[in-house]
Amino acid sequence: MVSVLTTRPLDGCLDYLVQQGGADKGDFVEVPIGNSQSMGVVWGEGEGAVPPDKLRRIRRVLPLEPMQPEMRSFLCRLAAYTVSPLPAVLRLATRTPGILTPPPARDVFCLTGFLPDKLTVARRRVVRVLEERGGIPTTATELAEEAGVSTSVVKGLEKLGTLRKEQALVDESYPTLGPLEKQIELTEDQFRAASFLKSSLGKGRYSTTLLKGVTGSGKTEVYLEAVAEALRLGKQALVLLPEIALTTQFLDRVAERLGGKPGVWHSAINASERRRLWRMAGEGKVQLVVGARSALFLPFRNLGLIVVDEEHDSSFKQEEGVHYNARDMAVLRASICGATAVLSSATPSLETWVNARARKYERLDLQARYGSATMPDLETIDMREAALPRNRWISGALALEIQERLSRGEQSLLFLNRRGYAPLTICRACGNQVGCRDCDARMVEHRFRTLLICHQCGAERPVPADCPACGVEGKLVPVGPGVERLEEEVRDLFDNARITVMSSDIIGSQQSLTEMIDLVTRGGTDIVIGTQLVAKGHNFPQLTLVGVIDTDVGLQGGDYRAAERTFQLVRQVAGRAGRSEKKGLALLQTCQPEHPVIQAIIAADDEGFWVAEAAEREVAGAPPFGRYASIVISGRNPMQVVDCATQMVRQANPLFQIGAQVFGPAPAPIARIRGRTRYQILVKADRNTPFQAALVAWKKTLAMPTGVNMSINIDPQRFA
Ligand code: ADP
Ligand code: ZN
Repeated sequence: MVSVLTTRPLDGCLDYLVQQGGADKGDFVEVPIGNSQSMGVVWGEGEGAVPPDKLRRIRRVLPLEPMQPEMRSFLCRLAAYTVSPLPAVLRLATRTPGILTPPPARDVFCLTGFLPDKLTVARRRVVRVLEERGGIPTTATELAEEAGVSTSVVKGLEKLGTLRKEQALVDESYPTLGPLEKQIELTEDQFRAASFLKSSLGKGRYSTTLLKGVTGSGKTEVYLEAVAEALRLGKQALVLLPEIALTTQFLDRVAERLGGKPGVWHSAINASERRRLWRMAGEGKVQLVVGARSALFLPFRNLGLIVVDEEHDSSFKQEEGVHYNARDMAVLRASICGATAVLSSATPSLETWVNARARKYERLDLQARYGSATMPDLETIDMREAALPRNRWISGALALEIQERLSRGEQSLLFLNRRGYAPLTICRACGNQVGCRDCDARMVEHRFRTLLICHQCGAERPVPADCPACGVEGKLVPVGPGVERLEEEVRDLFDNARITVMSSDIIGSQQSLTEMIDLVTRGGTDIVIGTQLVAKGHNFPQLTLVGVIDTDVGLQGGDYRAAERTFQLVRQVAGRAGRSEKKGLALLQTCQPEHPVIQAIIAADDEGFWVAEAAEREVAGAPPFGRYASIVISGRNPMQVVDCATQMVRQANPLFQIGAQVFGPAPAPIARIRGRTRYQILVKADRNTPFQAALVAWKKTLAMPTGVNMSINIDPQRFA
């Protein structure tokens, strides 16, 4: 008897009898549940909850590489940390569609045994490759690549009778990577950092290192050296990136450095490619995977290195289902499999900075930008004195600098983290703000698409001619700027400038994003207007001016991470200026130039900022010094949601027992999404209390009525 974990929404494992031939821990199996079959993983000894005569039998062991003990342990600990059911966590690791579908049939070649005396060098090389592979049938492309010849050589050998063509179910393999294709001379800082990481890898023990350095200081070059070392040691490597930083430019750069394309994993990768990568990772046949957060769940066989680039990025946190943070879980996975973890950022998260200060993580600093590039000058523009007319957002001082860039043939970037035309549409007759029917959110006008769009649920409707509330015609006006509206102002101010707006609505596809980045890189535009899409990674050599239109946006609202996020985002955007020889300038428009966060940005006083921010969080008992969990209760029936949430707080004894504070229930900051009312309970506890255990004990006492959902978010990025 064994226990089997499936992805069915149950509490845990189910017991099964073992079929003939046995089943070992980690085996992927097919088991009956009710009237259907489910895929599962043999998780351990049976638990004995079911009487022996009621036990059912495992149907079959599936032809997949068994799940490694390391992976099982990772999933268990992730489930415990995030207070999530194991089946939901298993789903993360197996949700690749069609992992059971056999690979496609393709033409492969094997040796016939007939070997003429005389063979050309090229042909001989192909034969040798096959011999070295023990005669395993191989595709023409692979043979040609490994032998360094063209595929016609393989075809020629077939004609000759030395090779035979067959059909086989095999995946195309990934190109062999490394050693470093393109050698570059590292600076002293870089060399020291790279050597440190290489020696960590050599020890084969777990460690985590914060790699900190301003944008352009060569962090990527340094961690690619570490990747190459991992590959040299025969280990697999994983580089996690925020999805929007996973551009072709980045992948080309990796390919250029390592001599081949890595495996790539993100939401737009098609099903057959996912299946291939999932299986190859498990068979140890892909050396490097570059991917978005869910790549962390690939079943690597021999993982030696995990890099989390832009580690502070909030997109590493999954905000639905299992609320995990891929950065933290990367560290967990590395610690379980004895791998080296590298967290790379110009503006690390406070958590990581504190862990480095506490010596839990190593820390490496790259001090300067590479080459002659220097950090841009940073200045504020006091918008209280700018005296702008209505519906204008570009101050005279900023406009002047843009004009100067235009006359010098350099580029400017205007940063405004607001998609669409105007964040708010208001009726001048009745004061009504046009809202979404299903959400507690305003509809945002998108003039480019001539629609009002809800940024919560995506609902769209035409811009109405008359007010939906009072019916008066022609009184609806847009209020406030979005990037599209800013574009109008820019066109107005700078007649002949070439303008590019970079915003996800306008760009649409990864393809057009790539084209747009190319355009800007080549200098094919003068002024870029962008949302946070432009904040990351791109290297625009002609760009020497960054204007932050509204530096204060992120500082409003009571979110405990507001300061940190603003600091990171503005520093990052400012870092786009002056990445080549020309000196850059970043101008921050603000109504509160004396605000400590803005002062810290201007002074480029990173350490000062973190010291102050850490002190403040410590006093407040906020993460990482205390623990938060945000619990959202949602449902279609508002009364039921309130009742349920209230009852949950009454039953919160297990939480009080660890001295936790429980706040709420209160309407969540977004009190309705997609027609579901949302209430929030906040739990706050000291750092060294059994937080998760208490939450689990509490959860066990709760009976959620049908139609009401509860989701637990440990370490919330924001209060939802
Ligand atoms: P970061 O990841 O810190 O933003 P990058 O690794 O992208 O920095 O480096 C910035 C630019 O400088 C890249 O174009 C990179 O190729 C180049 N660069 C960095 N270090 C070196 C070096 N030692 N030799 C040559 N080019 C370098
Ligand atoms: Zn909506």
